[in-house]
Amino acid sequence: MGIINCVECGQVCMATPSKRCPGCRQIIVQHEEKVLEYLEHQPNSTLDAIHAATDAPRHIIMQMIKAGRLEPYLVAYPCEGCRHLITRGRLCARCAENLTSPAPAARAPIDPRANMSRVPYREATGASLPPLTPRSPTKELK
Ligand SMILES: [Zn+2]
Ligand SMILES: [Zn+2]
Repeated sequence: MGIINCVECGQVCMATPSKRCPGCRQIIVQHEEKVLEYLEHQPNSTLDAIHAATDAPRHIIMQMIKAGRLEPYLVAYPCEGCRHLITRGRLCARCAENLTSPAPAARAPIDPRANMSRVPYREATGASLPPLTPRSPTKELK
């Protein structure tokens, strides 16, 4: 057990997984409850609307979003790059593209199924099928 500074108020407190002093944890829990209650009535909302309606600090709402706690709802929040509203990830599609792909040629579609489908079933699974026996013509129905 160590001693840390609460990430909310800076007060010295015992180290906890939340890195917050008991007082701040209590306040955050209250904010989170308000946010969840608001979303019960407004499942499609935005970070700003939640903040305005509940008084919960934006960073607390963002932490809930990042922790996946608001996933049942559709909450729009600003992209970290251009402040466009997005509903998942940290960046909008355009900013994510700018970040991850300096050269368009470097982006080959990677789909494991694309290669799998070219391998014949027996080779892919190693299954050995019984040898084919020619059917007797007399059993053939027309
Ligand atoms: Zn604190
Ligand atoms: Zn963006």
